[in-house]
Amino acid sequence: MKFNTKTIHGKQKPDAAYGSVMPPIYQTSTFVQSTPGKHKGYAYARSSNPTRHALEDSFASIENGHYGLAFSSGLAAIDAVLKLLKQGDEVIATHDLYGGTYRLFTKLYEKFGVKFHFVDMQNVESIEAYINSNTKLIWIESPTNPMLNIIDIKYTAKIANKHKVVLAVDNTFATPYLQRPLDLGADIVMHSATKYLGGHSDVVMGALIVNDKELAERLYFIQNSSGAICGPQDAFLVLRGIKTLHVRMQRHCENAKAVATFLADHPKIKNVYWPGFKTHPNNNVARVQMKDFGGMVSFTTKENDYKAAIKIVENLRIFALAESLGGVESLTGHPASMTHASIPKDDREKIGIVDSLIRLSIGIEDEADLIADLKQALG
Ligand SMILES: *Cc1c(COP(=O)(O)O)cnc(C)c1O
Repeated sequence: MKFNTKTIHGKQKPDAAYGSVMPPIYQTSTFVQSTPGKHKGYAYARSSNPTRHALEDSFASIENGHYGLAFSSGLAAIDAVLKLLKQGDEVIATHDLYGGTYRLFTKLYEKFGVKFHFVDMQNVESIEAYINSNTKLIWIESPTNPMLNIIDIKYTAKIANKHKVVLAVDNTFATPYLQRPLDLGADIVMHSATKYLGGHSDVVMGALIVNDKELAERLYFIQNSSGAICGPQDAFLVLRGIKTLHVRMQRHCENAKAVATFLADHPKIKNVYWPGFKTHPNNNVARVQMKDFGGMVSFTTKENDYKAAIKIVENLRIFALAESLGGVESLTGHPASMTHASIPKDDREKIGIVDSLIRLSIGIEDEADLIADLKQALG
């Protein structure tokens, strides 16, 4: 089955009761048993729920994995992966990580004795120097947030496999429409399904997808033991979102290309970060690893000024100023004061998150309207 069919049919079947094409929202906490332990496959909704199960199967299908797990948020999914670790273990992570992931690692897990190395992985060869016998996990994002750096997943997987370290890839920005990390050798794929998978800015959810049975069982044990599951209503919404993922992503990519090209030619703009440009440092990796270049664009203005950047995001009318990304509507954000405010200024500037950096999540509106909006906001 091809990807564009998997989004709609992958591992899905009509509901057994009445043949409904979409799974019903099984809004129940528990399931009746005829005698203790004897039931129709479901006992208690934290452990499993048919609506969530249908979604988890869809997650697995679109990422070419065997097992999918749904969580109450992207961060709950990441938290579940970190619970595979114990005191003394070490993690190597991308240095320009999603702010919430960085906070979870440094503010919560460091105090339990897990050690993190934040590494510039644009040159993947630098990763190996940080691996020692305590290294248990490599955590990467590609494209990264908000600098849209590209990390060579296949090469990273080769290093991880050689040293028997688990490789987890946050695939939120790319989605399986653009790249499938398990096919490239990763062990775990993670999503904030809040973003492109849900796609309509109406739900918060996380996902993990794996191939290895033992790893799936360990993660399922954590999911059930910690209990950060999603509810059946949210499962239904994300399942519905995934059905149009390929159509939406195609338009996100087309619009982002048009916006990036417009910004690159604008006299007030200094840098435009979009992996599709030939001048992007890892454009050659993006071309091989991704089907297209995604719906995210970041840029800086020539006057590197905090107030001027705030003015631009306030001036935008179609682009809503809001956290998050990946919905049908265009959003803008100012990472230094919003998503990445929890990273100390020196650290964030080292990775390019200067005061004038503006991030755009390009929606699926008409590209002419989006460009006109940016034109008037830039003045
Ligand atoms: C939003 C996001 C997360 C966190 O997901 P939540 O659903 O907000 O918990 C993690 N990684 C990336 C890249 C994100 O954009």
